[in-house]
Formats: sequence, C-alpha cells, structure tokens
Amino acid sequence: MTLDVPTLVLLLVLGFGLLTLQLRLAGRGALNRGELRSLAWSGLAFCVGFACFALRPGLPAWLALLGGHWLLMLGLAGFASALFRHLLNRGLPAWHHGLLLVAALAVPGLLEASEPVRAAAVSAAMAALLLPATVVALRRGWRGELSFRIVALMLLLASLALWARVGFALWWLRVQPQPAGPWQAWSETLLMLAFMAVLAAGFGFVLASFERMASQMRQLASVDGLTGAMNHNTTVSLLAHALERGRREGQPVGFAMLDLDHFKRVNDEHGHVVGDQVLRAVAACARARLRGSDVLGRLGGEEFGLVLPATGIAGARHLADQVRRAVEALELPGDAGRTVRITLSAGVAEAARSDTPETLMHLADKALYQAKQQGRNRVVVADDWMRNSSLQSVVS
Ligand code: GH3
Ligand code: MG
Ligand code: MG
Repeated sequence: MTLDVPTLVLLLVLGFGLLTLQLRLAGRGALNRGELRSLAWSGLAFCVGFACFALRPGLPAWLALLGGHWLLMLGLAGFASALFRHLLNRGLPAWHHGLLLVAALAVPGLLEASEPVRAAAVSAAMAALLLPATVVALRRGWRGELSFRIVALMLLLASLALWARVGFALWWLRVQPQPAGPWQAWSETLLMLAFMAVLAAGFGFVLASFERMASQMRQLASVDGLTGAMNHNTTVSLLAHALERGRREGQPVGFAMLDLDHFKRVNDEHGHVVGDQVLRAVAACARARLRGSDVLGRLGGEEFGLVLPATGIAGARHLADQVRRAVEALELPGDAGRTVRITLSAGVAEAARSDTPETLMHLADKALYQAKQQGRNRVVVADDWMRNSSLQSVVS
C-alpha cells in the first residue's frame, strides 16, 4: 500500500464520515449536548469537503476547490466552537466569526493564484481558525478529562502541520521554477497530516464528552440536587465504609442526625421557595464546619446526617453544637421583607464495634427524638439506656 495523496483524501472522507455517523447513531441523548452537535456538523463538513477534493478530476476545478476549502474552514470553525462549549461553556469570540468570513471571501480570489500562494494563504487561514481552540485545549483541556489530553496534543500537531505547510509553500515560491509535482505532493501531504490529527482529536473529543457525561451521571446519582449534600443511599454507604475503616484502624466513628425545628411553619409562612433556600443555607452552614473526611448527607426532607470518621462522642457533640449555633444565628430573607430564623435539634451517637449503619442511625434518631421532646434547639447524646432500648427495637 502506498500512502499517496488520493488514498489519504479517501481515508479522511471515510474517517470523518464515520465520526459523523457515530455521533448520529449515539442518538438524541448525545446530540442534546451542544458541543457534540457542533462536532457532528463539523465532521459532516470535513467529510463533504474532502469528498470535493476526491472528486476533483470529475468536477469543474473551481467547484472542487471552492467547495473543498469552504467546507474545511467551516468544519474547523465548528470544531473550535464545540471545543469552546465543552471547555469554557461559551461560544467562540466574535473575531473568530469575522476571520471565518474574511477567509471564506478570500478563497474565490485565490482560485487563479499559483499553487504555493494558495497553499500558503489557505493554510494560514486554517491555522488561525484552529489557534484559539488549540490554545484553550492545551491550557484548560489538560486539566479536564484524561482523554482530552489526546485532543490537545492532536490539535497541536494539526496546527504545527498547517504552519509547516505555510513555511513550506513560501520556500517553494522562493526556489521556483521547480517541477511542481513532488513539491505539490509534499504540500498536500502536510495538509492531510493536519486533518488526520484533527480526525484523531475528533474521536478523542467524543471520548472526553462521554467521560464527562458518565461522571455527571455518577454525581447526579449520589448527590442531592437541592443542597449538594450526599443523598440518603450514598450517606448510608459512606457510613458503612467509615464504620468498617474505624473497626480496622481502631478509631471511633461519630454520627449526628440533625432535624430542623418546626420547618413546616417556614414553608407555611414564607412558601416553599424560601423553604428550599433555608435548606440550602443550613447545608452550607454545616458543610463549612466539616473536615475533608466528614460527610454531610441529606437523609430526608429537612433531616441531615453527619458522618464523622475518627471522631469520638465528645468531638461529635461539639461539632453538632457548633452547627446548631451557626444555624441559630442565620438570618435569611423571607416572604414580604420578613426575616426567617430557624433552629435545629440533633441526636449524636458514637459507633460500637458491632454497629451497622442502620443501628447507629437508629440510635442517633432516638437521641434526636429526645432533643425534640426536651424543647428543641439542642443536642442530645445517645446514652446506654437508649442503646439498649434501641437494640431491642431493632432486634424485635
Ligand atoms: P419538628 O420540629 O417536629 O421537626 O417539626 P417540622 O415542622 O420540622 O417537621 P415535619 O416533619 O412536621 O415537617 C417537615 C416539613 O419539611 C414538611 C415538608 O413540607 C418540609 N419539606 C420536606 N422536604 C422539603 C423540601 O425539599 N423543600 C421544602 N421547602 N420543604 C420540605
Ligand atoms: Mg423538623
Ligand atoms: Mg423531620
């Protein structure tokens, strides 16, 4: 097999065609993401653009050159736009649209120009269109999904190949007259190399996008959307993990269950929206006082749990009381210019060696019940009597 220019062009038609097909087949879910929709359109533009070059012997030369160059430039702009959306969550800067317009308007004027002049001008325009995407991919993408590093490297390679083609074309102009054949083949091979790299970046982009989708789904499945706290299931799993680790390392594990006092009144008096804001503020208040290894979970409506590894009962009680005081001091904007004040009650327990997440949570719930009984806005520590009666009720 020889990698001559027509073969490379055909490979690029197939490659970009497959990339577009893959994105179309990935279905609505994937194409709902703006960046993948832009990528699918740019893949189609590249595929048809290279098809114009492949069909050049059978098409009028002006049509093949005009269509091919316009579509490749459009494809590069679409690719850059997809990348901006993925990494910066915004569209391309206005100057990029201007550059695309100027480059597209210049192409008809280049049809009559000599081969090296056209190669230099078109490659410079293409490299400039790719420049912001390459810079952003290298600076921001490098810290993103791992597969994005491939995208960054491939875009760098594509840019280098395009600039090399500009340099090569200028050199070609200086050493003329030379037989055009081998010079032209070199120049076209550099262009193919650049777009092979763009194709590889395209596949890397798809992978990075799906990698991001998977991590967002994991996040959605474990985090409560309103407060950012872990949801019930995740909190129980993390508590189980903390208990296991505590047993292995001989460290205590504390658990606190917090429940807002008379929260129903907040909803009744100020409305659900204010109620939601109060829940968010309480979660933020608690989170601000936790260590990196502690976990804040939302166990139910207005009920939160604190998983506190390597924390004995005194530390757990102290922390719960700090959160209680901070929440008591909150002054939040309510309905009709009024201020919302809220308090919370907490039940705190330290895990015994035999505790499961369920027995420990049940115990903290008993202490919380006592806190409510004793008048709310307080922290109650689970005692032996509660543990024994708690054990009985779990067993019975
Ligand atoms: P207590 O001091 O005994 O705990 O009284 P309470 O009013 O806090 O408890 P109760 O269980 O009677 O009411 C809890 C309220 O929490 C009822 C429900 O409307 C509200 N709630 C639960 N989830 C949400 C939520 O996501 N947003 C809002 N705004 N309110 C919620
Ligand atoms: Mg409550
Ligand atoms: Mg409750």
